[in-house]
Amino acid sequence: MSRIAYVNGRYVPHSQARVHIDDRGYQFADGIYEVCAVCDGTMVDDDPHLDRLDRSLREMRMEAPMSRAALKVVMYETIRRNLVKDGIVYLQLTRGVAPRDHAFPKNPKTQVVVTARNVKPHPAAYVEEGVKAVTAPDIRWGRCDIKTISLLPNCIAKQAARENGAYEAILVDEKGVVTEGSSSNAWIVTQDGKLVTRAPSNEILNGITRLAIIEIARREGVPFEERAFTLEEMRRAREAFVTSASSFAMPVTQLDDKPIANGKPGTIALRIREAYFRHMAAQAEAAA
Ligand code: PMP
Repeated sequence: MSRIAYVNGRYVPHSQARVHIDDRGYQFADGIYEVCAVCDGTMVDDDPHLDRLDRSLREMRMEAPMSRAALKVVMYETIRRNLVKDGIVYLQLTRGVAPRDHAFPKNPKTQVVVTARNVKPHPAAYVEEGVKAVTAPDIRWGRCDIKTISLLPNCIAKQAARENGAYEAILVDEKGVVTEGSSSNAWIVTQDGKLVTRAPSNEILNGITRLAIIEIARREGVPFEERAFTLEEMRRAREAFVTSASSFAMPVTQLDDKPIANGKPGTIALRIREAYFRHMAAQAEAAA
């Protein structure tokens, strides 16, 4: 089956999907995006994702290209045309096409691209054994709360992870405090059994999976604390995991070649992963 992309009002074969070389996304990474999991053809937490998109638009002073309802129609149509059952839908908005000039153009027209694809389930070993992570310095800018397509520091960190056979890079600030993963939020369970993740601020992206899992932890009665933790704390944690729309909750059992706790996925991480799958499945069932 050939893939279809939505580009500014048209559904086109993926291989022929094009944007202009003066697109500010291409010139300046002047754009924002969202990645939403698709479970049995249904977008997971679409409204929270689109709430965050609205926030990114406001913070970037960009115009919404269409209403939320229209965006959902386009996203679902892209899912449908690509026969996506379980996978992701990707939405990217850029500030438009204009002669190259750093300052914003006068009458920008937000450009819209939507793609969708099936994603294979994670290898069983990822969940049974957990994944490895490496640490990397957080060299990003001061507005990591905006889901911008300007991801070069994240790419560099992820590449360092790949070159070390690791799944994710955990970003650490100059004070030795963990910010988040290169494309995920970071969590630990302390030795006394408290689930901890960083509070939203300009230093991290407020993950939609993160928000859903905070709710799950509350419901499941898992003691939870929203605060920053140091790299040292993460190394000494009882459990660690990362969350994102594509990782769900992924147990991290090795950090920089040293095991976390006994090197096995933790019970809370696995319990939360299962509860998160139920959270996704419930939305698919409700939509059926
Ligand atoms: N932080 C960063 C830097 C990310 O790129 C992502 C994934 N887009 C996340 C956190 C997790 O966000 P979400 O749960 O909404 O996928």
